Amino acid sequence: MIEKIYDHSCTRCPLHKTVEPPGIICVGGSGDYSSKGMILGEAPGREESLTGIPFVGRAGQMLETALEASGTDRTHLFVTNTVKCRPPENRKPELSEEESCRLFLRREIEIVQPHAILALGNHALRATTGLWGITKFIGIWHSVPRLNQKNLLVLPNYHPAYVLRQPSLTSRFQEVVQDFVDRINQQN
Ligand code: URA
Repeated sequence: MIEKIYDHSCTRCPLHKTVEPPGIICVGGSGDYSSKGMILGEAPGREESLTGIPFVGRAGQMLETALEASGTDRTHLFVTNTVKCRPPENRKPELSEEESCRLFLRREIEIVQPHAILALGNHALRATTGLWGITKFIGIWHSVPRLNQKNLLVLPNYHPAYVLRQPSLTSRFQEVVQDFVDRINQQN
C-alpha cells in the first residue's frame, strides 16, 4: 500500500536535490492507515528525514505527550506532513513545494479516509482549508466540502515546534489535541 502512495525518487520540486543520503526523499506517513484521525504537520526535520518517520524529533515528543495526556497515542492515528521532503536548514516550505507534494497528501486522504484532520501550523492549515493565519483559527473546527464524499473536518492547532518556543501556549495546545481526540473517539 505504501508503495502506491509515495515516490522515493520524486523530482517534482527542488527539495529532492537537497535531501542528502542517508536522508530520505518523500517521508511517508506513519500509524494506522484505517484511523479516523489524521495529524498533519509541516515538513520533515533532520530526524524525520533520516528515519523516514514523521514527528520523531522534539516536536514529535511534544505531540506524543499531548496525545498520551488525551488518552491515546500516535499508533492509533495517522501522522504525516504537508511537504514530504526536508527543506534545507529547516526553512519553511514554499507554496510551490506544497503544491508539488499535494498529490501525496491527496493519496493519503483517499486511502486513510479520515473523519478529521488536526492541522498543525499554517502550512497544514493552508493545505487542508486554503486558509492562512493560524492563530485566529486555533481550536475552531472547519468543515471542508469534498466531491462525492462527506465533508472533511479540520481542526487547526499550533505547531508543536512553536509551542516548544512559547511554553505558555502548552495548555491551549493540549486542549485542542484533547478536543480532536474526543471527536475521533466518538467516531470509533
Ligand atoms: N515538524 C513537522 O512539521 N513535521 C515533522 O515531521 C517534524 C517536525
